[in-house]
Amino acid sequence: MHYEKIFEEIFHELQLTEDKGKVAEYIPELASVDPNQFGVHLTTVEGAGFSFGDAQTQFSIQSIAKVLSFVMAYGRLKSEIWERTNLEPAGTPFNSLLQLEIDMGIPRNPFINAGAIVICDILVSQLADPKEEVLAFVRRLSGNSSIHYNPRVARSEKDSGSRNYAMIYLMKSFGNIDNEIETVMDLYFHLCSLEMSCEELATTFLFLANNGVVPWSDERILSPSRTKRTNALMQTCGFYDEAGQFTFKVGLPGKSGVGGGIVAVHPGKYTIAVWSPPLNSKGNSYRGMLFLEQFTTVTRLSIF
Ligand code: GLN
Repeated sequence: MHYEKIFEEIFHELQLTEDKGKVAEYIPELASVDPNQFGVHLTTVEGAGFSFGDAQTQFSIQSIAKVLSFVMAYGRLKSEIWERTNLEPAGTPFNSLLQLEIDMGIPRNPFINAGAIVICDILVSQLADPKEEVLAFVRRLSGNSSIHYNPRVARSEKDSGSRNYAMIYLMKSFGNIDNEIETVMDLYFHLCSLEMSCEELATTFLFLANNGVVPWSDERILSPSRTKRTNALMQTCGFYDEAGQFTFKVGLPGKSGVGGGIVAVHPGKYTIAVWSPPLNSKGNSYRGMLFLEQFTTVTRLSIF
């Protein structure tokens, strides 16, 4: 398959239509990103890579990192994790407080903000040096020791983090947060500030396409069963209240972030990461969604 040619054709087709997305503004540090950047990278489980556009430019991966922190906690806690977070699609925006009170402080799933904050609380309880150990874990998954947090983005998240603070206080009132609020939020804000390129992102997620094993290092990260479950969670919860649309149109498990990145996994075959900063009203990359829809339609490489 001529992936690079297909990428180019879809990109040019998308250029003909208006980009109706808007760059995230509620985190000031993200508002200054050039909206015209666009990158895509596909990696096969055999290790072949295909790029187009700004595929080597690093960007803020934001909520995509929630999958990585979840995987780290899941590998340690196993099924006890489901006492702290549910695993159902939320049907509400990523930063909604509505359901959280009705559900007595148990987040709907680990990929909305409240769920990811609970996962950070679990990691703070489990790890001696959570920020460093999470970073070391992500570096191992990516095979790249230069992956870093962006301190300016982390700071900007904290300064504009009122809703996230509201969530953690609400959860604490229900007894679902064990640690100091500032320690947990510091990990959460740093997690969201991780920077990667499309190539690095596709590479980092490859273990989820390979039954839980990092293909080049042979390190097992998750059992095949927990890998299946993680992919299933991305399928049902990876795009907030647009998870149904993404499944319907793209047909792959995946995860988005408000930096405009999307990563998607075809178990047994490949991972693909796309980046286009302007977001639709649900907080998912406007062109990224359209691009992946076209890609799986043209190539017939969806899981359905
Ligand atoms: N850091 C963002 C927040 O906490 C993450 C949201 C996202 O990427 N959907 O709001």
